[in-house]
Amino acid sequence: MNPMTPEPAAGPSNFIRDTIIEDLNTGKYQGRVHTRFPPEPNGYLHIGHAKSICLNFGLAQEFGGKTNLRFDDTNPSKEEVEYVDSIINDVRWMGFDWDRLCYASDYFQQLYDWAIELIQSGKAFVCDLTAEQIREYRGTPSEPGTESPYRNRSVEENLGLFARMKNGEFADGARTLRAKIDMASPNFNLRDPILYRILHASHHRTRDAWCIYPMYDFAHGQSDSIEHITHSLCTLEFEDHRPLYDWYIEAIGIYHPQQIEFDRLNLTYTLLSKRKLLKLVQDGLVRGWDDPRMPTLSGIRRRGYPPEAIRSFAGSLGISKTNGMIELGRLEQCVRENLNKSAPRVMGVLRPLKVVIDNYPEDHVDELEATNNPEDAAAGTRIVPFSKVIYIEQEDFRENPPKDYFRLSPGREVRLRYAFFLKCIHAVKDEAGQVVEVHCTYDPLTRGGNAPDGRKVKSTLHWVSASHAVDGEVRIYETLFTKEDPNQVEEGEDFTVNLNPKSLEVITAAKLEPGLANPPEGARYQFERLGYFAVDPDSTPGKPVFNRTVALKDAWAKIEKRGSQKK
Ligand code: ATP
Ligand code: MG
Repeated sequence: MNPMTPEPAAGPSNFIRDTIIEDLNTGKYQGRVHTRFPPEPNGYLHIGHAKSICLNFGLAQEFGGKTNLRFDDTNPSKEEVEYVDSIINDVRWMGFDWDRLCYASDYFQQLYDWAIELIQSGKAFVCDLTAEQIREYRGTPSEPGTESPYRNRSVEENLGLFARMKNGEFADGARTLRAKIDMASPNFNLRDPILYRILHASHHRTRDAWCIYPMYDFAHGQSDSIEHITHSLCTLEFEDHRPLYDWYIEAIGIYHPQQIEFDRLNLTYTLLSKRKLLKLVQDGLVRGWDDPRMPTLSGIRRRGYPPEAIRSFAGSLGISKTNGMIELGRLEQCVRENLNKSAPRVMGVLRPLKVVIDNYPEDHVDELEATNNPEDAAAGTRIVPFSKVIYIEQEDFRENPPKDYFRLSPGREVRLRYAFFLKCIHAVKDEAGQVVEVHCTYDPLTRGGNAPDGRKVKSTLHWVSASHAVDGEVRIYETLFTKEDPNQVEEGEDFTVNLNPKSLEVITAAKLEPGLANPPEGARYQFERLGYFAVDPDSTPGKPVFNRTVALKDAWAKIEKRGSQKK
């Protein structure tokens, strides 16, 4: 491949990509591809949005096209600048840059002018029915609706009332502007939908310039048209809105982009709805939008997920016409694969057990060479100190080892990573019978990890020298919900009953190798044998805080689980 050619970002072929190729072949949009990502700034972006971001930006990149970032900011009561800023930051972090940064609110005047044109051509009217009446008049799926008694107002009367709506003469909800389409349509969206509602609310950009706001459907297609979007990609719930999207554009008589729908991402044990995520934040059920348990891009960034891993996950998802459920494990596997290649290896002990090496000289320190990343020779090596007292993981010692347990136990010899063979002599217990200290001997001839006489050991443990160790806090996360589908609840309950009480475990006294005293915020490491960990912004000098990004697959945990299932 020519090094200048951008690498195609798209995953396997899909029906949207096929449509674009066909449109390029037939010259439908003069060879242009122009997509947009159109979030409403009413919350933080989540991993579901990442699918849409990767699709929109990825397809445009693949075909030499453009993508706009457009804020769909037509509902001032729920939208905030904080959300706009976070969305801009998140899209950049995902690795994408837009052609234009747009706001639907920039088009408020144009949309208003078009509404007037629709009134003039007899296609829109001012309706005095209340929201509740409009619902009653709308009919049911099996019965046609009833036309509003205000439907046949004269153009002049409509123009006058609409101007007065705009001028703030009426209260919220007193009147609406509606399209005159078809109250008998089997598609509810075409039963005289609302174009404008009265809302005396200050908008985060237009402030108090307007007290009438366009509905999503009246703003979205026209915004696409104004920006000369070619392929307007949205999720399946908008399929029923497409006839309305097309109707407005035809009725106004402007450039016609095409809306194409695809399936939403749903992930097991995860909720992807800004409204519900907002509730978790507002009710203090998580620490904020960027809580590492949240599926928001800011949450998973803090947790340590690299954007490359999210892109590769998004690229691996099919694009289809039916909503399904994706295993959370698939996302985690993309994260592991990415970090396996890129994350430097370090040693840290989460639940320390003190090991005294009886035959090791007092006050002596061995400086051992450790490989930074076996997957990346260029990452080099580092020096790790070793001394008479070290920490190992509590679960790496058993006084009475079960069958198939090959870690440390009295009389057993193991390897300490990058260091020496270590043989357990005996354990010291407290009054309660808890093992508090283990006494061992080491074999100085095994420095580097191999015995000159060729004898073998069955396991290799990670460790940290006690006198050199840095104290750290480590936060271990489990899924935020206990149910695969957190929306599954009994009558009268809400999704918060499915919150996992064990989703966060804080370990305050982990022992870490000395190089981790002041790691850069956001840096990601593999703690050998434990998983991948990222440096949290709560870190202070000399007291790092780590988030476990994702665990390694733990072979022993699997053996133990299998054993307990057999019983
Ligand atoms: P939410 O229900 O979480 O508020 P939304 O669809 O209302 O989501 P928008 O801000 O309107 O959120 O979404 C911006 C774009 O992202 C839309 O094109 C939308 O279809 C897409 N999107 C949102 N959620 C998902 C998802 N789970 N999977 C794929 N695309 C999504
Ligand atoms: Mg929405």
